[in-house]
Amino acid sequence: MFCSGIEGVVLRMYPLREADRLLTIFSLQRGKLTATAFGGARPCSRKRVSTLPFCRARFWLQRRGEYYRVDQAESLEFFPALHQPYLLGYAGYLAELVEGFSPLEEPNPALYRLLVSSLRCLRLCPELVAQSLALKLLRLAGVAPAFNRCSSCQRPLDPNWDRLYFTPPGGLLCSSCYTVPEAPPRALSRGSARLLRALGELPLQKVLTLKAAPATLEETEAAVAALVTFHLGHTPRSLLYLQNLATSSGRPEE
Ligand SMILES: [Zn+2]
Repeated sequence: MFCSGIEGVVLRMYPLREADRLLTIFSLQRGKLTATAFGGARPCSRKRVSTLPFCRARFWLQRRGEYYRVDQAESLEFFPALHQPYLLGYAGYLAELVEGFSPLEEPNPALYRLLVSSLRCLRLCPELVAQSLALKLLRLAGVAPAFNRCSSCQRPLDPNWDRLYFTPPGGLLCSSCYTVPEAPPRALSRGSARLLRALGELPLQKVLTLKAAPATLEETEAAVAALVTFHLGHTPRSLLYLQNLATSSGRPEE
């Protein structure tokens, strides 16, 4: 079967022999798919753009059993800023999230557009953009916890509660419902709970206008990472890369 002009973003690329590459593509028309690009890494190859990370491209594919074969690829958009190590780590996080939560060959145009918009504006605030995409993916999968009430007694967030606790996958616990369980939950401020709710609900353009103190951002980032790790069953490699980067060099100045 021949598929012409499918638009997609390369989420992952594995080297095979020499210049051959195995790709995971998230496409607008067919969702996530796996494709081989024979000779794709050669400098003059007509498939060269298909081997560049996070490039948005048009692909000409042929079905070969459970894989596709890339016959040709034409670039539509590059995200050059993403080659900085810190942004590359966050772009890798977006890719791992989309790959991890998307079944093979199930089109999801809303998620595709969200991924492309997120890559476009990632450099403006990578932490918020990545957390927002993660929470929206969890909502689409029907497993996002509510951040506006206690997950046990269901009471809405009370301004008098000085401490909240967070534990995946259920979500928030007020201090009356909190008991010491086997795995201790994290403390979470009400501001962090509000931010988590906003990140999951607001459109991306509004997310970019949100302001958060570094301590809040750190709390929400840890909560989202715990949720993602729980549902994927492993810690995304890009998160470990980002943690190493932060430990070795400190967070870069904006
Ligand atoms: Zn409660």
